[in-house]
Amino acid sequence: MATRSWFELKEIAPGLWSLSEPDHLEEVISYLVLGRDRAALIDTGMGIGDLPAAVNRLTRLPIIVVNTNADYHHCGANHHYREIAAHQAEAPRVERGWAKEEVADTLLPHKIWGPLPAGFDPLKYAVLPSRVTRLLDEGDLMELGGRRLRILHTPGHATGALCLQDENSGTLFTGDTLAPATISAWGDGSDPEQLLASLERLARDAGQVARVCPGHHLTPLGPDFLAEAAAAVARVRSGATRVEPAREGVVRHRFRRFSLLLPGHIDPPPPPPAPEPSPPPRKGAAKKQSPGKGRKRPARQASGR
Ligand SMILES: [Zn+2]
Repeated sequence: MATRSWFELKEIAPGLWSLSEPDHLEEVISYLVLGRDRAALIDTGMGIGDLPAAVNRLTRLPIIVVNTNADYHHCGANHHYREIAAHQAEAPRVERGWAKEEVADTLLPHKIWGPLPAGFDPLKYAVLPSRVTRLLDEGDLMELGGRRLRILHTPGHATGALCLQDENSGTLFTGDTLAPATISAWGDGSDPEQLLASLERLARDAGQVARVCPGHHLTPLGPDFLAEAAAAVARVRSGATRVEPAREGVVRHRFRRFSLLLPGHIDPPPPPPAPEPSPPPRKGAAKKQSPGKGRKRPARQASGR
C-alpha cells in the first residue's frame, strides 16, 4: 500500500502549485511559481516532509526561495536551497535557524494528525541555518522568465513580512499577513498599527487580485477575503469588535474567517447591582444601630471632566 505523502500538491492556476502540509496543526502552505527560466518557491514549510522531492516532481527549473517571514514553519527546508530571498529585517532569523529545543513543541502528539513521513527522525528535528542571498523590499521585481513577481513589504505580524503579487495570474501571496488563521501582532518584531495599515493597503489593491494564497490552512481564497480584512480593520479602529482575552495584555478580535491578536485588555465586569434597600422597621421594633453608621460616606462620583 502506498504511504500518504506529507505534502498535498494542487495546481491552483497554470504553473502555480500549492504544497500544503495538512497533517500538522499549522497546516502550512508553500507555493511554487513556475516561470520559463526559473521557479520561485514561496516559503519552505515545516521541514518535516521531503520538500525537495515534492518540488522535483513538479519542476527541474532552478529554484529561488522567498521567505514571507522568518517563522520557523516557513523556513523549514531552506537549507536544501542555495538561492534564498527575504526582507532584510527577517534575514538574521532565517539564517540562524531554529534549534531542536525551540521547535520541540511542534511534534507534540496533538499537533500531528497523520503519520510522520518515512525517514523523518523526530529526535533530530530542527530548522537548520541557511543563507539569504538576496534582500527584497517594497517594489522589487523578481523575473522568472515570462512571469514576474512584485514584492510588497507588509510589516505588522513581522517587521520584514512580505507579500508577493504574481502579475501574470493576479495571485496575491499573503504569508502570515493575511490568512484564515489567528494573525498575531503583539510582542517582539510585531507592530499592531503596522499590521492594520498593511491589511488596508492590501485591500486597496484588491482590484488587481484574482485570488489570495495565504500561508496557512486554506487556499486559494477569493479577493473578497481582502474586503473582509479591510472591514475588520475598520471595526478594530472604531472599537466596534467584541474582544476575548487571549493572554496577559493581549486580546483576540474575532472575525468570520480569521482573528487578530492585538495588545489590549478587557475591562473587568461591572460590580453586581446594589442589594434592594431593606424595608423600614415595623412599628414597635427595637431601634437598632444602622450597620452603615460610623462608616465614611462614599466619595462623590468624579465629574467627567
Ligand atoms: Zn505562519
